[in-house]
Amino acid sequence: MPTVTETAITGLAFCIDARCPGYNQQPVQAVKRLLEFSFVEQGGDLPGIEHSTSQVFFADEADAVCQHCGKPRLVEDHERPEYANASGRDPMEIFHYQGQAANTLRELQLAHENERLRHEAEVSELRGQLAAQGALMERMASQLDDLTAARRRPARKENE
Ligand SMILES: [Zn+2]
Repeated sequence: MPTVTETAITGLAFCIDARCPGYNQQPVQAVKRLLEFSFVEQGGDLPGIEHSTSQVFFADEADAVCQHCGKPRLVEDHERPEYANASGRDPMEIFHYQGQAANTLRELQLAHENERLRHEAEVSELRGQLAAQGALMERMASQLDDLTAARRRPARKENE
């Protein structure tokens, strides 16, 4: 078993979401736990510590939730390193693309929906025209029947 030493420290907490205002590190009460593994414990025979690891925890679990967005927060014992922007590109670029992609998708969906509505309107207009033509054809057919009947009747009368 390693030797465990816990120390109360001021940790730096931050939201896991880089787009959240809570991403900026904030000081909080934290606990640093140091685990030390001796040579003997690792199978050796020298005195002293072979290696050690450390973990940082929130002293108060209530600090583990971001007050801006409710997502989990992490806590560290050091300031977040800032690296020079060697690429010259915006580090948040991918998020802008995501926004653009979402916009493009929305535009496509909207265009598709408009196209569908336009098509539906066309179909319903055509149905209306078809129904009107059907009614007209029926009227014409019945007039034709009347005309045919009217022609036959006098013809029969002439034969009588
Ligand atoms: Zn947040």
